[in-house]
Formats: sequence, structure tokens, C-alpha cells
Amino acid sequence: MAVTSSRYGRQEIFYGIGPEGQKKLKKGRVAIVEMSAIGTAVANNLARAGVGFLRLIDGDYIDVSELQRQSLFTEEDAHEERVKAVALQEYLQKVNSEVTVEAEVTMLDGGNVDSLFEDVDVIVDASDSFETRLLINEACHALKKPWVYGGALAASGMVKAFMPGGEEPCFRCFIGDEEYVPGEQPTCATEGVLCSTTSTIAALQCAEVLKILTGSDMVNKNLISFDLWDNSFEYFEVEKDPECPVCRGEYKYYGKVSGSHTVSMCGKDSMQIIPSVEGEVDFEKYARVLEHQGKVKYTKYTLDFDDGDVQIKLFKTGRAIIKHVSDEKRARAVYAEYIGL
Ligand SMILES: [Zn+2]
Repeated sequence: MAVTSSRYGRQEIFYGIGPEGQKKLKKGRVAIVEMSAIGTAVANNLARAGVGFLRLIDGDYIDVSELQRQSLFTEEDAHEERVKAVALQEYLQKVNSEVTVEAEVTMLDGGNVDSLFEDVDVIVDASDSFETRLLINEACHALKKPWVYGGALAASGMVKAFMPGGEEPCFRCFIGDEEYVPGEQPTCATEGVLCSTTSTIAALQCAEVLKILTGSDMVNKNLISFDLWDNSFEYFEVEKDPECPVCRGEYKYYGKVSGSHTVSMCGKDSMQIIPSVEGEVDFEKYARVLEHQGKVKYTKYTLDFDDGDVQIKLFKTGRAIIKHVSDEKRARAVYAEYIGL
């Protein structure tokens, strides 16, 4: 057996990759949607594997409740409420300076998905939002890009690579015509989740990404479904639905720019306000206005305001997280009063 001490030697002696596969990984470009427990593990895995370009898409900051499962973040990151995409970018560039890691401090939506996906080879879904996943599915169908789905709940998980092409089923084919009702599905906030679950999903997704980037014909056609507590690991065939609107090119989320809207943050006692038009907020100017009303501090990416009652984290684009608020009306009122962009 060949003995090698090169950086990627263990991958290069693996029959499925080899030196040629490693060159393909170096040219590979991957976008990861959300730096969740799954997303951080995927990013870590792919950066170390030598995938040449990673785009980390996430508009959130690090909270101490996420350290249980979101690998690579530290207590200091949580204490400073650092922006996830940037904290992870900085860490991964230290891990592997040969790859390019780009941080996109934004929430994926119908308006920015084209620019975030069009120059990558594969997209990894690490989102815990069903709507985001439906948008990824539609965008990847329109742009003819492969994407790898990963869903976690408690000790169970599901993974499937959705490939572009006429005969391939899409995510909408898989879920059927069940209409999604926000708030009615169990989530990780209500059912909990194990780090073992999210790590397993990330590992399975990464294997599929490596196969796709190296052009392997071993991409798993089946949906992988497992439960680490019930000791089950199964494969299911996903059939193409002849009635699927997405497969016919009828999209509900892709290409639609939503107006100003409010989103509750899964697992965080906060509401997020996304303005209809995102701009570039001048933090210095805003800090001068707000400092008469409470404590203000800002970095390159976020501005924090706290008057003892209201706590706001404002992002550069005008998006804001209103903390300790679970009521949409109250969140919008706070935004209008203090930000009012
Ligand atoms: Zn379909």
C-alpha cells in the first residue's frame, strides 16, 4: 500500500477519490445554507477535505444554547454574540488556508438565491426551516443544480441527494401535496435534537457531496432514514410524482421577492424582521441616533441596542432580531419605533 504524508493523502489513497478526485475537489464549489449544527459540521468536513470554495450562508448570531451541537463555536463566540458565518469563516481559514471560505451574512430568500447558488456546483441544505428547503428545491430545479437535503429531529434524521434531470424526483415529489402549516410541525425546539443526530446527517451529506464533486456514479438514489435511539437505519426509494408542480417548473418561492415580513427564530425567544428592501445601514449614524435612548455597540456586521426593556440586533442590510419578544405585532412596533428604516 502506498504510504503518503501529503495533506490529503488519506483521501488520495482511498479508491473512491484518488489523486484525480482530489483535484476535482479542489475545483469544487459548495454553498451551505445555514450554519446550524448540521451546517457547521458539513463546513468543517468539506474545508478539511480540500473542497476549493465554500460559501457559508447564515444571517444569525451564536447563542449559548447552540453550543451543545453547533461544532467549532466557542463560549467566547456566544458571549460576544458573533455572527455565525463570519466566526466560522475565520476559523476554517485557519484550518485550511488552501481553500476559499466566503461568509454571506444573510437569510436565503427568493431575491438572493440566484446570486448565492448560480456559481456553485452543489448546495447543502442545513436549514431547519421547511420554507427555506422548499425554496432550495425550486431554485435547484430552475438552476439545474444538485442539492443534498438533511433533516434532523430528536434522534432521527433523513438525508437525500436530489439530482437535476428529467427523471429524477425532487423534494416536492417526496413530500407530496401536503400543505405546510407553520407551527404545526414538530421542530428541534419542541422535540429536542442530539448532536449525534446532526453529526450523522452531516457525515452522510458530505459523503454525497464528495461523490457529486468527483463525478462518482455512486450517489445514493435512495432516501436514507435513521433513528439512533431506535437503532434503525433504512433506505427508501423516492418516486417522481407526475403531478409535482416543481418538476413542471411551477414555483411558489423561487423568483418571488417577499415584502417586509416577520419570522420567529426557532429555539430563540426572538422575532426577526426582514424589510421589503434591504439596503446598507450606516451603523455610525444610527449609533448616534440611538445612543440617546439606550446602550449601543456595533461591529462591522451588527449593531446592538439595549435600553433595559428593548433589545435589538440590527444587521447591515436593515434586517433586525428583536430579542425576548414572541408576538409579531410587538416586534413590528419595536422595529418601527427604533429602526423605522
Ligand atoms: Zn418534483
